[in-house]
Amino acid sequence: MLNIVLFGPPGSGKGTQAKFLEEKYQTPQISTGDLFRYNLKNDTDLGKQAREYMDKGSLVPDEITTNMLIDELDKGKGPKGYIFDGYPRTTSQAEALDKILEDKFEDEVTVTVALVVEDEILVQRLLERGKTSGRADDVDEDIIRHRITEYYTKTAEVAKHYKAQGKWVEIDGVGEIDEITQKLIEAINDAMINE
Ligand code: ADP
Repeated sequence: MLNIVLFGPPGSGKGTQAKFLEEKYQTPQISTGDLFRYNLKNDTDLGKQAREYMDKGSLVPDEITTNMLIDELDKGKGPKGYIFDGYPRTTSQAEALDKILEDKFEDEVTVTVALVVEDEILVQRLLERGKTSGRADDVDEDIIRHRITEYYTKTAEVAKHYKAQGKWVEIDGVGEIDEITQKLIEAINDAMINE
């Protein structure tokens, strides 16, 4: 399997890049943010649980998020692998993902590619996206800044987990979209060769 973790702060372009990588490698994207938004829209029990966190820009608790991920993997859409977008966002989620891939597929994360974008650019991108995205967490600058703070306090430390496994590659996330895609593809291909 090719299991790609697409990593980076909110607004770094994970969702945009995931679409190109899906096409290139024929591995479906699993976006926990999209899954939560689907549940919010359909007012499911899961959506009701997640809403209070998402609307504030806080992370949804690990247990809720990981159970949702397991349910998605159980659908079996990615026999060749997956692109994980927005998961893991905490060290405990990273540990959970290792265990899930091992238990379900006797496999592991191939590579984690991290998009690096400075904070002020993130805030501008998200405010811009908020004009059309319909996302409550994209319109208010305080909520956006809170999401970025959540990233630095809880998510950035996930880097240590993958660095220790030799699976961490950073990519400059500022520039032309297709140039960034090319850099991601190079990093992923390198990781596949070295596996
Ligand atoms: P972005 O990458 O723009 O921050 P996402 O669509 O990935 O947005 O996530 C939106 C929100 O969904 C997050 O702010 C958080 O509340 C929730 N969420 C998504 N993935 C996770 C996760 N792995 N753990 C906890 N909460 C999550």
